[in-house]
Formats: sequence, structure tokens, C-alpha cells
Amino acid sequence: MIRARDLRVRLDGNLIVDGVDLDVASGEWVMVIGPNGAGKSTALRAIGGLLPFTGVVELDGRPIDTLHRRERAKTIATVNQTPTVPPGMRVLDYALLGRTPYIPPLGRESAADLAAVEEVLESLDVARFAGRRLETLSGGERQRVFLARALAQGAGILLLDEPTSALDIGHQQEVLELIDRLRAERGLTVLATMHDLSVAGEYAERMVLLAEGVVAAAGTAREVLTEENLAKHYRVRVRVIDGE
Ligand code: ADP
Ligand code: MG
Ligand code: MG
Repeated sequence: MIRARDLRVRLDGNLIVDGVDLDVASGEWVMVIGPNGAGKSTALRAIGGLLPFTGVVELDGRPIDTLHRRERAKTIATVNQTPTVPPGMRVLDYALLGRTPYIPPLGRESAADLAAVEEVLESLDVARFAGRRLETLSGGERQRVFLARALAQGAGILLLDEPTSALDIGHQQEVLELIDRLRAERGLTVLATMHDLSVAGEYAERMVLLAEGVVAAAGTAREVLTEENLAKHYRVRVRVIDGE
């Protein structure tokens, strides 16, 4: 589970995340939504231990700053919005990076690491691409390989920064459904940021609306995606889910 209290992140002297409280229960999927520049990515990176912050971040009940590198890698895995794709790297080798915080000499991975990665590639339906160079895959296929690297880490908590932002609507739904299946099958705790709201509400158990670094609303999708909230915080018009 994730517990953040009074989370603050300062970048270049500006308070980008300004006192955020956030809870994700074990096995739950929470979405952080909000307009561009709201501080979603920054908050996510702080929670993942990738940026200095003040306040409290606890993962499975333990303050993140007490977790050593390897322990942290076994607890929480982050997929950035646009992960760097090392040129020429094969899918299998990329996914193997998830097995260790250190890059092993390729081709000398242990049988256990190889088996774990193959299982993950299988479950994400990308095992047939194992020998392909990452840059030759389609957007949706590549997103699944990014997830594979994170899952290969073996962490119970997944942080996903706009996992669907590079995809068309059909692939967005596919990836969100996949994440939900993985959450259910592996008991993962998921915190994901989303900019596009057209399909987000169908998947999130709970949402946190971030605006200018603070929580403007939190609750179920129906409670958060109100016309009032969206008009106030999004410059463009966003469709509101119809009540039924
Ligand atoms: P979001 O993910 O919600 O779009 P971000 O967390 O990426 O928002 O950014 C929030 C704000 O922080 C933006 O105004 C952005 O320009 C600013 N910001 C991001 N990185 C830095 C940085 N390294 N230094 C200063 N400001 C930054
Ligand atoms: Mg952004
Ligand atoms: Mg962002």
C-alpha cells in the first residue's frame, strides 16, 4: 500500500507539489488526474523515491527513505511517461533490466532471472517479440514491454505515469484492461496518472484530482469527474460520465 502525507516537492525553487495526502490500499488502483502541469508526474516520482521531498511516503507501512536500493526495487516499480528506449536493445534484454538495479553483462543472466522475465513476457503476450529490437514494436506493444520490465522487478506496487498517453483510443482501452487484469491476478497496488479522461473513469476505483500541486478533489470517479470540477480545473471541455 501507499500512504503519503503532506507531500511537498520543490523544483528549481518552486513548490510543485504542495502538501498532498494520498492513500492507495493494497490491491487497489487509484488514478491521479489533473491538467497539464498540475504536478502529477512530480508527485509520482517523489512517491517512487526518484525525487527529494518533504513529508511522509510509506510503502507497505515502511517509510521509503528507510528502504535500501534493492529493497526499494522489490517494493515499488515505476514506468515513466516516455521511457528511454536504448537503441538496438532487444525486448528480452530490456525486460531483464527489471531484475536488478544494476545492468548485468547481457547474455549472462541467471536461469532464475531468465525464467521470471519469460513468465512476465508470456503473461503480457509479448514473448514472441523477445528477440526483436524494442524500437521496431508498435506503441501498444512497446507499452506492454515497459510494463514487463516493471513487473520483472517483482514489486507489489506499480507507479505508472500516463501509461496510455502515446496510444490511440483502442489501444488505450487495451492497455488499461491489461493493467487491471495484472492488478487482479498478481494482487498489485497501482497508482497511475492520467491526462486523458475519456476512458479513465471506467477503470479507477478511486481518483485524486490534482491542480496546482494540491488535491482539489478525491473520491470515486463519479464524485471527482463532475462538471464543476472539470470546468474549474481543465481548460478544455471534458465529457462527464452520464449518471444511470
Ligand atoms: P504534470 O505531470 O501534471 O503535467 P509535472 O509534474 O510534469 O506536471 O510538472 C508540474 C510543474 O512543474 C510544471 O509547471 C513544470 O513546468 C514544473 N517542472 C517540472 N520539472 C521541473 C524542474 N526540473 N524544474 C522546475 N520546474 C519543473
Ligand atoms: Mg504533463
Ligand atoms: Mg506528467
